[in-house]
Amino acid sequence: MSTLIELHDLQKTYWLGDMALDVLKGISLAIEEGDLVSLMGVSGSGKSTLMNILGFLDVPTSGRYILRGDDVSRLSRDARADIRNEHIGFVFQSFNLLARTSALQNVMLPMEYTHGVSRKQAKERAEMLLENVGLKDRMNHHPAQLSGGQQQRVAIARALINKPSILFADEPTGNLDSKTGVEILHMFQQLNAQEGLTVVLVTHDAEVSAYARRVIHMRDGVISEGGLS
Ligand code: ADP
Ligand code: MG
Repeated sequence: MSTLIELHDLQKTYWLGDMALDVLKGISLAIEEGDLVSLMGVSGSGKSTLMNILGFLDVPTSGRYILRGDDVSRLSRDARADIRNEHIGFVFQSFNLLARTSALQNVMLPMEYTHGVSRKQAKERAEMLLENVGLKDRMNHHPAQLSGGQQQRVAIARALINKPSILFADEPTGNLDSKTGVEILHMFQQLNAQEGLTVVLVTHDAEVSAYARRVIHMRDGVISEGGLS
């Protein structure tokens, strides 16, 4: 396996007025291409902050982020948006679907920002992905007409629309009952095993992290175990 992500002494400080809050205190880790990794730690340990930096939603205060050998620690907002759109899929605890539009439209949306893709191509790919997640007969339903598990399947299809190389899932089963949660976790395992998708599963729950192949433990802004692959 080759290395997809490397972090060297990554730090993140938030400023609340003139008070510094050091949330990430020197994170070094490596994630291999094609792995299914969980980032586990109690609430407040800095998992979402780290995931947001890894997913180019936020920037580190200091330290280095290397993605496939390129230093991506200090990219402009536009460059980060391009990488996000091209390489990264997100799944969140609260699904984050647009309420006033269908499952199909929700899944198509990120592809409409992609160059050289027609609406027809976007629609066909969205239909295929919704079919793959078992929602062939729910494509025209709005989120409120779907169960939590179905909404999370829509979110997974949406995350896959641009053929990402990494999927980040932040507490993806947090709003689901345990049976539905397990179905969603199996879906990540399947995407990882069958498509070789690199998956980073962020969770506070040891039962959830057991679905990963490798667990990176975080505590109070540092990696306490499992950072080196
Ligand atoms: P986790 O996902 O592990 O629960 P977070 O990364 O969300 O942890 O938060 C880690 C710490 O950083 C918490 O103390 C939180 O309050 C703080 N924090 C997160 N985001 C911000 C922000 N934008 N501004 C200030 N503090 C923040
Ligand atoms: Mg979090």
